[in-house]
Amino acid sequence: METRILDGKRIAEEIRSELCTEIGDLRSKGIVPGLAVVLVGENPASQIYVRSKAKTCAELGMHSESHDLPATTTTEELLDLIGRLNKSDTIDGILIQLPLPAHMDSDVILRAVDPTKDVDGFHPVNVGLLSLGTFTLAPCTPFGIIDMLKRAGVPLKGAEAVVVGRSNIVGKPVAMLLLHQHATVTVCHSRTRDLPEVCRRADILVAAIGRPAMITREFIKPGATVIDVGTTKIEDRDLALRLFGSDSAKFRTFEKQGSVLVGDVHPTDPLGLAGAVTPVPGGVGPLTIIHLMKNTVLACRSRKGILK
Ligand code: NDP
Repeated sequence: METRILDGKRIAEEIRSELCTEIGDLRSKGIVPGLAVVLVGENPASQIYVRSKAKTCAELGMHSESHDLPATTTTEELLDLIGRLNKSDTIDGILIQLPLPAHMDSDVILRAVDPTKDVDGFHPVNVGLLSLGTFTLAPCTPFGIIDMLKRAGVPLKGAEAVVVGRSNIVGKPVAMLLLHQHATVTVCHSRTRDLPEVCRRADILVAAIGRPAMITREFIKPGATVIDVGTTKIEDRDLALRLFGSDSAKFRTFEKQGSVLVGDVHPTDPLGLAGAVTPVPGGVGPLTIIHLMKNTVLACRSRKGILK
């Protein structure tokens, strides 16, 4: 069987061009969706994410504000900023870049964001609405995964879906969204018995674990669609060699950079066995950021009472 590679970059481009048209239309009515990104401290990875979010906003014609605060910012100061952003009429979406410094309680901070502006979908009100199926804002990565499955024409209704991972940001919300699409959903975790056997039931297998290349052939039903959410940077040369082989482009990347990104799914095992698989990088990742933009436009429409 030839395994289809689900190209997240191409799908994200398709969504980007639809969003461009939609935002152009909103702008012609005098409405400019706005996103505020709040970063506390100097985490280099977070700084890169924040810059790329601001760049995407600008490319799409959205308003964006970056609030870069020092690591010494107090909880009260951050809550004060969130209060101002909650009230601001030019801001439709507020994103608090995680992780926050250790002296801050993330739960308290995330709960301070107005749920109608919570474009990450992490506020308990939005988690509750997602569970009820009456939500507007779902977490970006799970939202992106469902969008990708639909655009790739993967049947969801009645499908057996197995999600490995039960985190609040990926595993649980993706399971909930699959359930709303009428899939039969099983959620697995570190204490699931005979994980390979459970996974082999899946027409759709979502791996959100954070353990490089853990999902091997024995976890995959022939013809299944395998969605690889995991992204782990590996720096172990022997592991890179074992996973990719010495004459692969990936191993050459490793030799050049000293590290390479690996998903939760073994890089070659699904090939010729699965019906479709997402690559890492270039699979789920590009969909996450574009769905943050989609959520900001949704939040804007919802606040203005013009949901489609
Ligand atoms: P968490 O660490 O919060 O959750 C991991 C989950 O995997 C837990 O539920 C854990 O089970 C389960 N797990 C761990 N080990 C095993 C095992 N051996 N067998 C079965 N289940 C196991 O991670 P996240 O959900 O935040 O992220 C998962 C991965 O997805 C990470 O690699 C992350 O970097 C990536 N990610 C990628 C994104 C993207 O845009 N591409 C966005 C978000 C995340 P238990 O609950 O029992 O501990």
